[in-house]
Amino acid sequence: MSKSKSSESVKVVVRCRPLNRKEESNGPAGGIIQMDLRLGQVILRNPRAPPSEPQKTFTFDGVYDANSKQRDLYDESVRPLIDSVLDGFNGTIFAYGQTGTGKTYTMQGAWRDPEKRGVIPNAFDHIFTHISRSQSDRQYLVRASYLEIYREEVRDLLDPNHGNARALDLRESPETGVYVRDLTSCVCKSIKEIEEVMNVGNQARAVGATDMNEHSSRSHALFLITVECSQPGPDGRKHIRVGRLNLVDLAGSERQAKTGVQGERLKEAAKINLSLSALGNVISALADGRSGHVPYRDSKLTRLLQDSLGGNAKTVMVATLGPAPQHYDETLTTLRYANRAKNIQNQPRVNEDPKDALLREFQTEIARLRAQLSHRKWRSKQKKEQVDGEDWDGEEETEGDGDEEAEEEEKKEAENYVKLEEQRLEREKKAIREDRFLLAEEKQRLLGEKERMMGDLRKEQEATEQLTAKYKAMESKLLVGGKNIMDHTNEQQKMLEMKRHEIAEQARGEREMQQQMMSQDEETLELRDTFTSLQQEVEAKTKKLKKLYAKLQCIKAEIQDVNDEHVRSRQELEQTQNELTRELKFKYLIIENFIPPEEKNKIMNRLTFDPEEDQWKFQPLVPAKSKSSQMKKRPASAVGYKRPISQYARVAIAMGAHSRYRAENIMFLELDVTPPNTASLDRSTEADSNRSPSLDNSPTKDKGVRKSRSWCQTPKSISSSSSNLSLSACHAATPTAAAQ
Ligand code: ADP
Ligand code: MG
Repeated sequence: MSKSKSSESVKVVVRCRPLNRKEESNGPAGGIIQMDLRLGQVILRNPRAPPSEPQKTFTFDGVYDANSKQRDLYDESVRPLIDSVLDGFNGTIFAYGQTGTGKTYTMQGAWRDPEKRGVIPNAFDHIFTHISRSQSDRQYLVRASYLEIYREEVRDLLDPNHGNARALDLRESPETGVYVRDLTSCVCKSIKEIEEVMNVGNQARAVGATDMNEHSSRSHALFLITVECSQPGPDGRKHIRVGRLNLVDLAGSERQAKTGVQGERLKEAAKINLSLSALGNVISALADGRSGHVPYRDSKLTRLLQDSLGGNAKTVMVATLGPAPQHYDETLTTLRYANRAKNIQNQPRVNEDPKDALLREFQTEIARLRAQLSHRKWRSKQKKEQVDGEDWDGEEETEGDGDEEAEEEEKKEAENYVKLEEQRLEREKKAIREDRFLLAEEKQRLLGEKERMMGDLRKEQEATEQLTAKYKAMESKLLVGGKNIMDHTNEQQKMLEMKRHEIAEQARGEREMQQQMMSQDEETLELRDTFTSLQQEVEAKTKKLKKLYAKLQCIKAEIQDVNDEHVRSRQELEQTQNELTRELKFKYLIIENFIPPEEKNKIMNRLTFDPEEDQWKFQPLVPAKSKSSQMKKRPASAVGYKRPISQYARVAIAMGAHSRYRAENIMFLELDVTPPNTASLDRSTEADSNRSPSLDNSPTKDKGVRKSRSWCQTPKSISSSSSNLSLSACHAATPTAAAQ
C-alpha cells in the first residue's frame, strides 16, 4: 500500500426534498428552509420563534434544493468519489436524515427512470462505462454484496434464505479492516447483472418490511462494491489496485417515541437507536479531535464504517431534510449532525497489491486451467500423430490467447479427430468380428479392448470440454478494458459526460471560492477601513459591534438549543434506564424465589461474556481439552483389545482356545462331582459304586457339567491336562482351580 499520508475531510452535502401533498395541504406556511446554491448555505427559520430572532445559517460543501436533479448531485458530489474508487481508494457515501426526507430516493431513486436514478444505479453506469473505456491492458473484477443491519444484527440480503438466516459476525483483518464473515459476494460482468443483484436485495428487504412494520426505515442498508483492477506497472509486473465502495442508506434519524413503550418493544427501540446514537458519538468524538477514544465498537454500524469515518477512505455524507415546519427540531438536529461531520479528517490511500485480491486468485486459476488445456491438446496431438501420422500436418499449436477463430478451428479439429478415431475403432471392431481365423474368446477380448478405448476417448473428450467450459466461465468474469460491454458508448455521449463533469467541477470551484472570499471579507474589511473622522469611526465600530452582538446572540441561542437537546436526550436515557431497572428487578425476583441457589451458582459459573459478539455464552460442561484426553485413555488391560481382558483369557487366546466370556469368570465350574440326586436313594448307592471309576466319561456327569457350562463352548480344551497345567499358574489363587 502506498504510504501517502495526505488527509482530507469528509465532504458533506445537504439535500432538501419538495413539500409533499400532505404538507402543502397543511397550510400556506411554506417551507422553513432556504438555500443559497452559490454559497452552499442552508438557512433555517424557526416557525415557533418571533420574526426578530436571527435565522440559523449553515455552510456545506454543496446544497441541493427541491428543484435539484439526481444527476446534479451525482455529477458534482459523487462522481469524483467514484473516480477515486476506480483508482483504488476506499469510498463511502451515506445518506442521513429523518424518515421520509429522501434518503432512499437519493441513494436508489426510481432506477428504471433515467431522470430519477439515484446514486447507486448511477454508480453502476459510471463504473462499467469507465471499464469499457479504459485501456486494453487492464483487467477488472467487480463484485457486489448487499446487507442490512436490523436490531443490531447483520443480515445478508443476497442469501436466498434471508428470512431465516442467522445473523452474520463481524471480523477484523489488518488488510481489509472490518469485514462481514460469510457475506455473499457476486461477481458482476455488466450493469444488468449488478442491477439484478440490487433488485434481489431490495426484494429481500421488502419481505422483511411486511413482517415488521416500518422495517425499512428502522434498518440500515449497505450496498458494497469492490472493484479490482490489474495493470502492468513500470517494472513489467501486473499490479492490482482494489477500490471498495460502501453505499449506505441509513435508518431514519428521528427519535423514537418512548412513551408507553415497555418490555420487548422497549429493548427493540433501544437497539434500533443504538447504531445511530453510536454513529453520533463517533462523529462527535472525531469532529472534536480532542478525545482520544473513538467508540467505534459500540455498534455494528460504526464498526463497519470505521474506515469511512476517520480512516482509510474518502467519504461523502448526504444529509436529507424535509421543508415542513412541524419537523423543525429534527431538521435542526440533522443540520447540526452534518455540520459536525465536516470536521472529520480521513487518511485515504490507494490499496495497492493487497494479499487478498480475488483478481489475483482468478488470474492464477485461469493460468492453471490454460496450462492444463494446452497440455491436453498436446497429448491428444501426440496420440494423433502416433495413430494417424500421415493425416497430421504438424501445424503449430495455437496459444489460447483469446483468438476466437483459432479456438473455433481447434475445437472443430478436435471434434473431427474424435469422430475419425471412433470410425476407425468401429472399423477395427467390425474387422475383428468378421475375422474367421480368430477364436471366439480372442475376438471377445479384442472387442472389449476396443470398447474400452472408445470409452476412454469419450471420457477424455468430455473432460476437455468441461475444462474448456470452466476456463471460459472464469475468463468471462474478468472484464478487459476497452472491450465494448456497454451498448451506448459512443463518442458524443463521452463528450457530453465530459462537459457535464467540467461544469460540475466549475460550479464546485466557484462555490469554494465564494465561501473563502466570504470568510476573508470579514477579516480584511477592518484592515482596509481608514477612518477620516472620529464620527465615522464610531459609526463603523457601532456597526461592527452590532454584527458581533448578533453573532453572540446566535451562538447563545445555539448553546441553549444544544443544552435543551442534551437535557431531552438525558431524560429519555433516564426513562429507558428506569424501565430497564424495573425489568431487572422483576427478573431478580423470579431468580431469587424460584431457582435453587446452587443451581443459580452453577449457571452463573458457566457464563462468560463474549465482547466480540456482545453476548453472554455458556461454557461447555466438560472442558474441551480433558474431554478428548478422557476419550483417548483406555484401561491398561484393554490395550489392543476390544474390552478389558484377563491374563487368563490372553493365554487362552495364545493357546488357540476360545476365550469368550472367560475373561469375566475364570473359575472352573468344572466339577460338581456328586451327581444330581434325581434317582431314588437305594439305586443311587449302587450306581455310585459302579460308576465312580469312569467318572470322567460318564454321561450323567457330562450332563451335570454341561448344565453348569452351558455358556462354555469348548469343554474339551479345558479338561485337557496340558492346558490345565499351564493355566494353573494363572489362577493359582482361585481355590477351585487350586484344588484340581
Ligand atoms: P427516506 O428513505 O428518507 O425515508 P424516501 O426516499 O422514501 O425517504 O422519500 C419519501 C418520499 O419523498 C418518496 O415518495 C420520494 O419519492 C419523495 N422524495 C424524496 N426526495 C425527493 C426529491 N428530491 N424529489 C422528489 N421527491 C422526493
Ligand atoms: Mg428509506
